Amino acid sequence: MMRRVLLAANWKMFKTVPAALAFGRELLRRYDADAYSAIDVMIFPTALALWPLSQRFAGSPIQIGAQNLDLGTEGAMTGALSGYLLREAGAEYVLVGHSERRQHFGEGDELVAAKVQAAISAHLHPILCVGETAEEREREETLAVMHRQIGAVLQGLATYDAIKLTVAYEPVWAIGSGKVPTARDANGVAAAIRHQFSEQFSSEVADSIRILYGGSVSPKNIREFAEAPDIDGALVGGASLDVETMVAMMESLVHQEGENGG
Ligand code: PEP
Repeated sequence: MMRRVLLAANWKMFKTVPAALAFGRELLRRYDADAYSAIDVMIFPTALALWPLSQRFAGSPIQIGAQNLDLGTEGAMTGALSGYLLREAGAEYVLVGHSERRQHFGEGDELVAAKVQAAISAHLHPILCVGETAEEREREETLAVMHRQIGAVLQGLATYDAIKLTVAYEPVWAIGSGKVPTARDANGVAAAIRHQFSEQFSSEVADSIRILYGGSVSPKNIREFAEAPDIDGALVGGASLDVETMVAMMESLVHQEGENGG
């Protein structure tokens, strides 16, 4: 099955609303609809910039997502943002279980699983982030950690919901560090993740879901990761904040698509 390549930009706690809009204006100016038709481009700005940026990208193929969601729909939950509110603000996707949420906000597997369910109920497509720490990698527990993090989410999902998932494999030690695994190693983990979907659901489901690599992706290395057979694109933090670098990564992916005949 041909899976479309996805470039997802996680802006974390960066960019004011005017800065996000200026980036959006420049990205649209540089966006070559024909050249980029083979890839999906998605921006995950702060929650504040969701609505204005979704307005800016209206009518363009660039999609918008949220970085996190809280449980529930509406209610007395000071400071919380539900999937429903994010969806109404223009989000189509949502990151769930990013390692910074797991590390700094104490999100565990159970809460991550509940958030995936909440995202689906709100008609958002979840991008489930998983990844091992440096210590877990040293102890050779990478695959066991993936199996646990993904198993916690999949056990409560129906097949028709499982196909709505995207998984981002992001080794914690690679995020923002400049260190990366080899594309071969990352592909091995992605293949194991796909296998888990096939065991839990079917090979059709496993073949259809997109698996991204994330962690210190740049214009220099994005192509190597995206060319790996089980990796369908990248979730990018730091390098996505600059429009030049973002366009350079899009260009790199497009050339890869062209050369593969896709
Ligand atoms: C991320 O935050 O998802 C990420 C991969 O960050 P960076 O690209 O900066 O390593």
